[in-house]
Amino acid sequence: MPHVAEILIPLAIDTAYSYAVPAHLTLSVGDVVQVPLGPRETVGVVWGVAETAGGSNLRPVTGPLGVAPLSEPVRKLVDWIARYTLAPKGSALAMVLRLPDEAAAAEVVRVGVRTTGKAPARPTKARDKVLAVAADGEVRGKGALAKAAEVSLSVVDGLVDDGALEAVALAPEPVALPPDPEFPRVPLSEAQAAAVAELVGAPAAAEAAGGAVLLEGVTGSGKTEVYFEAVAECVRSGGQALILMPEIALTAQFLDRFAARFGVRPAAWHSGIGGRRRERLRAGVANGEVRVVVGARSALFLPFRKLGLIVVDEEHESAYKQEDGVHYHARDMAVVRGKLEGCPVVLASATPSIETRVNVERGRYRRVRLPERFGGRRLPDIQAIDMRLDKPERGRFLSPPLVNAVKANLAAGEQALLFLNRRGYAPLTLCRACGHRYQCKNCSTWLVEHRFRKALVCHQCGYSERRPEACTECGTFDNLTPCGPGVERIAEEAAELFPDKRIIVLSSDFPGGAERLRQELELVAAGECDIVVGTQLVAKGHNFPHLTLVGVLDADIGLTSGDPRAAERTFQLLQQVTGRAGRGERPGRAMVQTYQPEHPVIAALLSGDSERFYEEEIAAREAAGLPPFGRLAALIVSANDRATAEAHGQALARAAEPPDGVMVLGPAEAPLALVRGRYRFRLLVKTERNVDLQSYLRDWLGRGPKVRGNVRVAVDVDPQSF
Ligand code: ADP
Ligand code: ZN
Repeated sequence: MPHVAEILIPLAIDTAYSYAVPAHLTLSVGDVVQVPLGPRETVGVVWGVAETAGGSNLRPVTGPLGVAPLSEPVRKLVDWIARYTLAPKGSALAMVLRLPDEAAAAEVVRVGVRTTGKAPARPTKARDKVLAVAADGEVRGKGALAKAAEVSLSVVDGLVDDGALEAVALAPEPVALPPDPEFPRVPLSEAQAAAVAELVGAPAAAEAAGGAVLLEGVTGSGKTEVYFEAVAECVRSGGQALILMPEIALTAQFLDRFAARFGVRPAAWHSGIGGRRRERLRAGVANGEVRVVVGARSALFLPFRKLGLIVVDEEHESAYKQEDGVHYHARDMAVVRGKLEGCPVVLASATPSIETRVNVERGRYRRVRLPERFGGRRLPDIQAIDMRLDKPERGRFLSPPLVNAVKANLAAGEQALLFLNRRGYAPLTLCRACGHRYQCKNCSTWLVEHRFRKALVCHQCGYSERRPEACTECGTFDNLTPCGPGVERIAEEAAELFPDKRIIVLSSDFPGGAERLRQELELVAAGECDIVVGTQLVAKGHNFPHLTLVGVLDADIGLTSGDPRAAERTFQLLQQVTGRAGRGERPGRAMVQTYQPEHPVIAALLSGDSERFYEEEIAAREAAGLPPFGRLAALIVSANDRATAEAHGQALARAAEPPDGVMVLGPAEAPLALVRGRYRFRLLVKTERNVDLQSYLRDWLGRGPKVRGNVRVAVDVDPQSF
């Protein structure tokens, strides 16, 4: 009987298509194949095979692609993600199947030469030298041989033509050297050793059932060294390990620490890795040659041959949530993949997400703690500066107590960090003559002045225009006023206050890109700078041993957003950034400028009582039925004009028919109502915990209005802001 294959194609389609399997082909589920699609050929993956009597009218599979097949756990991950996020299955597949472009995939074979034993027809001194070196029979590259014999390359070529040397393929260079788990390492502290024993001891029943371990330790407690031991254990037992990081581009320091523990740097996977290297890494992961990968969230979709451990570092980071295309959360999907692969998952954080903490309370996740800083170092003393009382001078942003503290710090030869989570010079520009405020053409956002670039920039869509000299509305010259501070403005103020000090501004839009940023971070770590002015970019993960004072400029920024996650986010960010102080020899302290020192988040930060913060925050979420005590999804309806978007949103709302336990809110203008020229309305779906949110959404979208014209509906399950 003829065979029919169900082929899933990595495009935004939800179902696999049927193709005939030609008699000369044997296909298995997971095979990567080429198939015709319309007038073109495309790549797909065999999702099912069947013998059937029909199917004679089907187009045939063209053939296999010669790529490693997708393992069962990876296929199940694709199914799982599509089901959970409501993304088309083909879109989920596309994340796994980064198609090898041919130029990249074609392995360049390195060629070497060795002697044949045949004497050259025309011996010369130079030729003799080459043959003397090659006499050991070893295969060398032509260049290497010429160099060793101290002759020109043409001499070697001549010997090949002559038949005295022959060309042989060299083994390809390894894509990553194997980490050595027995590499000599720094001794662990008692607390670390105890944590390692708990971490890599017999996995608890909860993990076998698809749970995870939370490795919770205050900033500077030495979590990295602890989970490195879990990685070592995984490598020893022949498995591959994946370490996920929120911002891979900035982890040169991390790669070095890994090398200090394992003798070699791990393979790094991120969007900056292109072409051939990307393909070789992928292939090395698939054939098991690459043992440890450190990567950004997309590394989660690599085709590991024998995944033995996943570590999610800084698991609370919102950067793990992908907010376009397939809306997934890499931490949650890591736990899913761990379950499918049957391997442990370690979530590391000083400030775990509420979701993870609740999973610990429910007994789904185990918790291993490191309650103190490594080496007896103290956590920084944190002090609030009440901005209602300690006002900065007019037009300034640094309060007198903070200025004094920086002064004292500099006098002691120590480093200070001024933290403000706002890029650019000023978040709003206003004409004092007519009151005009400069807004983005495409988005409902104010343009941010970037003084270094002399531009007004939209932080949402990237639109930018030259900062005008005269107001574009009323034509008045020299009357544009920057309102509020960004890091550039703080750096300017610091430079005026401390003219002879070395100041570095660290912000993701820094000219010079990632490479420059890396260099600047190294300067800071080496103590070659007195004052760092930075955004959240410096708040996370970095180790600055000379830094002893952290000044937080506007601790309240995040608290006023009205987003129920605001308290959690602000608490995490403030803990992280104040935790940069005092990681070296000298103790550190932090000063937090705030207009509401009595706010529970600020109070918890000052008292150092994070347990209490978590208790209160978890209780508040439970009382409000918010995640993880209830489920939540957002539908974002967008269109090129406002009325169309709103009308579609309203039609969707009319079709909602929420059953018991489901509440549909909206449509309301989305928090960002206009993005890149598209108007956005949002519907929020809030359900009780036991409701099958995904089935409800599918049914609803199925009976809802047809999506026409330029209307788009994006589904975001577990939205990060709500
Ligand atoms: P965390 O990730 O918990 O914030 P780290 O793992 O970065 O903490 O460790 C904090 C500091 O302590 C780092 O400078 C690290 O090099 C140092 N450290 C941790 N463990 C050890 C150890 N066993 N021996 C020496 N130094 C250590
Ligand atoms: Zn914009």
